[in-house]
Order: sequence, then C-alpha cells, then structure tokens
Amino acid sequence: MHCGFCLQQCPTYLQLGMETDSPRGRIHLIEALTDGKIGATPALTAHLDLCLQCRACETACPSGVQFGAIMESARAMVIETGAAPRGWRLRAWLLRAVLPYPKRIQVLFSLLRLYQRSGLQSLVRATKILRLLPGGLAESEAMLPSLPRNPYTTPNVDAASRADSGRAVALLTGCVMPHLYSRTHEATVRLLERTGAAVVAPEDQRCCGALSLHAGDRPTARALARRNIDAFLAAGVEAVIVNSAGCGAALKEYGELLADDPAYAEKAERFAALVQDVTEYLAGAGLDAPPNGRPQRVTYQDSCHLVHGQQVRSAPRELLRSVPGLELVEMDAPDRCCGSAGIYSVAQREMSLRLLDEKMRDVAATQAPVIATANPGCMMQLEAGLRRHGLPGRVVHVVELLDEAYAERE
Ligand code: SF4
Ligand code: SF4
Repeated sequence: MHCGFCLQQCPTYLQLGMETDSPRGRIHLIEALTDGKIGATPALTAHLDLCLQCRACETACPSGVQFGAIMESARAMVIETGAAPRGWRLRAWLLRAVLPYPKRIQVLFSLLRLYQRSGLQSLVRATKILRLLPGGLAESEAMLPSLPRNPYTTPNVDAASRADSGRAVALLTGCVMPHLYSRTHEATVRLLERTGAAVVAPEDQRCCGALSLHAGDRPTARALARRNIDAFLAAGVEAVIVNSAGCGAALKEYGELLADDPAYAEKAERFAALVQDVTEYLAGAGLDAPPNGRPQRVTYQDSCHLVHGQQVRSAPRELLRSVPGLELVEMDAPDRCCGSAGIYSVAQREMSLRLLDEKMRDVAATQAPVIATANPGCMMQLEAGLRRHGLPGRVVHVVELLDEAYAERE
C-alpha cells in the first residue's frame, strides 16, 4: 500500500504536493479515522473534501485498490457518526431535498430559464453585482450554461412499435441532463434508433444517486438505486444506455451498493449487467460509418467516470475517428480531471478553477476549436473554461458529432 504509483496521477497532489492530499495520504487518514486514532476534525474533513473522487488513482494502482469505494465509505461514516461539518450536512440535505423529485428540479430550472431569458442574467453579469456578495456566487453563476428553450421530453414507444422493432433499449434520462443538454439526449436517441432498437425511457426512473453517494448520503443513494432497478427491469430491455459518465459509473456499481440488501442484491447485479455507456454500445453496434462529414479539428477530454470509473477509453475515440473529415488531436493528459467532479466546482471552487485553467491551457495548445467529452458536468465545466479564457469554440458530447455527421448525408 505504499508504492506511491498513484501520486503522479492525482490532480490535487500534483497541484499541492502534499502527501495528505494524495491518494496514499488520504488512505492513511481514513485508516486512522476508522481505527479511532484520529477524529473527524476540520483538518481531516478538508483533506477528504478536496478529493475529486476522479478515481485516476484506481487506474494507476498496480494493487487494484478501490479508492472510490474507500472514499465513499469514509464520507458516509463521517456523516453517519454525526461528526460531519455543517457544510457536509447541508450539502447532503440539499441533494436529498431536490434530486429525487423531478417536479422540484423542473421548478428550479424554470426559474433559471426565466433568469436567462428575461435579460436578468445579462444585467447581473454586466454590472458584476454578484462579486459584492460572499460565497463565490459570481464564479458559481459563471458556470451556468445557456439552457435550452425546452427540456428534453422522454420518448415513449408504444407496445406496437416495440414489437415491430423486436429490440428495445432504455435511456437513463437523468435528473438535470434533460434541462441542461436536451440536444445530447436527442442525438443519443437518433443514433440508438439507427442501430434498429426502439428506445424507451421508463417514467418511474429517478436520479442515479451518484451525487448523494459522493456526498456521503448512502441511504438516499440506495433508495434511488432500488427505484431505478424496479423501473428499468420492468421495461424488459436488452440494455440500459447512459450518456452521462458519472451516472453510468454509479449504475454499474448498484450491485456493490445493494450487496447487503437481500431483496435487491440479485436484482441489482442483473440490472448492472445491462448498463452501457452510449459510446460503448454504439462502438459495438456495427453501424456503418457516416459517409460524409466536414473538416474539423477536435480534441477529446476523457470524463473521469468513463475512463477511470468504467475503463472506457477507446470507444469514444473510435466513434470520433469514424467521422469523415474529423481530425482527432490528443491534448496533454486528456484523462486528468477538468475540475468539474459533480458539485466539486461549487464546493471546492478554488481547486476546481486551478484544474480548469490548466486544462484550458492544454486545450488551447491543440488549436482544436471543438472539445468532445462524455459527461454533462465536464461539458458545463469546459464551456465555462472557454468563456473564462476567451477562447472560441464549442463543447459537445461525442454522440453529437456523430449525429451531425449522419445528418450531413440526409
Ligand atoms: S480520486 Fe482523484 S483526487 Fe481523489 S485521491 Fe484519487 S486521484 Fe486524487
Ligand atoms: S493506492 Fe495503490 S498505487 Fe497508491 S500507494 Fe497504495 S498501492 Fe500504491
């Protein structure tokens, strides 16, 4: 457990050079906490909180240390023993009060859309008024992408068309994705339909629970997992497709999350075996490559929970390389976290921005005006990076570039 191979892959260690902000150091702190040698002091929880849970250390570790699970358990233990700082408890409570409830999320995004469309956002940004308020509100507001006019509405394939198709897959629509990136869902469904499958989106599905799990709230994550398992298994599909890497990693780990639940352990394993990232599914679907495309230079940012959480590295690149005219230019360290990491960009703003600034320097060096990635959090963060650095260009999900290429033919 002491080799230290993980250190040079850890973004926070690379930034700070402190053993206590490295995977190895954090494991020692967690061991000491578990053995009762130290308490959940503010200093200790700060070191745990600074971890992005990006799992780059898992990929680097020759001994197969499951750092993500260790960190999730440690955060849960701190919360469950009542020793968590107020910020942690507030964060877990806010996530619990919003994410399981689609109507509350809808209200929240309706207000944000009104804020953007009424011109209030332009006024707020022009006057820089938020800089007068504490808590880094201005930086958090700057993260907000331009919201689509309408949220994504789920496809509901009736029994007859499912029978015609013979095959059906289910789409995880996610809690915020329909409101932030409806265009990604639309492209995903069009591509899935090209494979000959009918696409369904079970109405009873809910948030995947990843954000609650990362915040140490296991009961909420487990309740959401049970609900999703019931909703998706009832749909009788051959695969559950996810276009958000963070959600996909969480769904694939429902088996571990519910291993001690006698009523769900077997169902959770069965469900997890159905889950595929959309890039994995499409790369294996045998689709003909799009016949047309346009010349464009693209760089690809690995989403941590796709490359480190699900070990999917080649599928998105294969899809991008299948697009005629597309030149894929690798940036330096494409699998180093961009600083998004769920709610990290709000909770740990300073470190998040340091990582983002470094990422945007690597992006700029490629001279690629298009950044492709595979997770809504990364898309938001990289879009904010373009604005922050005054760089031209756009950020897209991999499936959007593929979908655009097929549309060129028609
Ligand atoms: S999960 Fe990421 S930030 Fe946390 S210790 Fe591992 S490499 Fe470092
Ligand atoms: S977590 Fe793995 S790579 Fe890091 S010090 Fe321990 S054994 Fe080595």
